[in-house]
Amino acid sequence: MTYNELLEYDKQHLWHPYASATNPLTVFGVKRAEGVRIELFDGRQLIDGMCSWWAAIHGYNNPALNAAACEQISQMSHIMFGGLTHAPAILLAEKILSLVDSSFQKIFFADSGSVAVEVAMKMAVQYFAATGQPQKNNFVTIRKGYHGDTWNAMSVCDPVTGMHSLFGDDLPKRYFVSSPEGEDTSELEQIVREHKDHLAALILEPIVQGAGGMHFYSPEFVNKAVRICKDNGLLVIFDEIATGFGRTGKLFAYQHTSVVPDIMCIGKALTGGYLTLSAVLTNDKVASAISENPPHAFMHGPTFMANPLACAVALASINLLIASPWQQRVRNIEAKLKELLSPAREFDNVAQVRVLGAIGVVQMKQDVNMEFAERRFVEEGIWVRPFGKLVYVMPAYIISEEDLTFLCTKLLKVVKEC
Ligand SMILES: *Cc1c(COP(=O)(O)O)cnc(C)c1O
Repeated sequence: MTYNELLEYDKQHLWHPYASATNPLTVFGVKRAEGVRIELFDGRQLIDGMCSWWAAIHGYNNPALNAAACEQISQMSHIMFGGLTHAPAILLAEKILSLVDSSFQKIFFADSGSVAVEVAMKMAVQYFAATGQPQKNNFVTIRKGYHGDTWNAMSVCDPVTGMHSLFGDDLPKRYFVSSPEGEDTSELEQIVREHKDHLAALILEPIVQGAGGMHFYSPEFVNKAVRICKDNGLLVIFDEIATGFGRTGKLFAYQHTSVVPDIMCIGKALTGGYLTLSAVLTNDKVASAISENPPHAFMHGPTFMANPLACAVALASINLLIASPWQQRVRNIEAKLKELLSPAREFDNVAQVRVLGAIGVVQMKQDVNMEFAERRFVEEGIWVRPFGKLVYVMPAYIISEEDLTFLCTKLLKVVKEC
């Protein structure tokens, strides 16, 4: 098929994320990508501001990750994890556990972020079933969260941006408290006290709420929230699927706080954006309770659990990250984003500009016209994908100062027109 035929077939038959199948917005064909550059079918090059949704932290087509993938494929791309094990999973587990708090002792590999959230929620429910409190099976969370698109993950997403109303009564009803502004945890404390007999866990994204609103909030809120949960017999789940692997300036966002959750989900940048893989980490308390009481097992097991190819690339990606001056890079990106995006504060159509780590957000007063904005970003040579009122970038850590300047300058040019 020619490039035009490919695009035409796509338009007729392929469903894209959060999109209409019959009247889709334009999609742009990608031929290849390297570093922070995306090359379109027509040869145009775009500077990437999205990291393919937080994932491609080293940029695209990285030689070390390519080599790890080729080497693993020449051994085996996949083997079932029931009754079998392999070095890529073991070495990756050892690497991940060496980077987090020593209370994390067990790791469960899953295939995507949403599945990791399902697994984490099932762990919390199974923990209380195992300890003789099966009625503790609900969850409390904060508004503006995003935890994925599967049924239970969706149930703890922000009810408005997560469009709960579309799915009717069958979607489990969770407890929501306001998205944190400042350190005030009184609303959370009240709900936890009132409903603790039915609550298994608090789930939240620490410090940075991603796709639910790109909201940054205080580590002290997290500290206080975790203490409230511990005092009232709830487990705590941190969803670090977006924030993990350096994006906020710490390797994991919980490291901005003085607390550690019982269960933590990671994904997205885990494989440097190469393959889908996620993991759920937990402590001995949770793992032992589940394992030492009937049914003496955690009841989950994806077909592609601990996929060796994904694990091998993930290990290479983490090694590459750790060996790089990623902290300095994220600090430099943060300083540059602050400088380059701040002029937008003066724009009539901009409500707020905020930057944390390698995340830059321009919040508009009105919803962005996606068709217009995407066309203009591409015409200007950058790849940025807004949602709602939010125009944001989270570039690869390897982006040069020159490319970052180009990205932000063009972004502001288009934002002004929106
Ligand atoms: C993207 C994301 C998920 C879902 O991950 P998928 O791999 O898309 O299923 C869950 N939680 C957070 C915080 C995310 O950013």
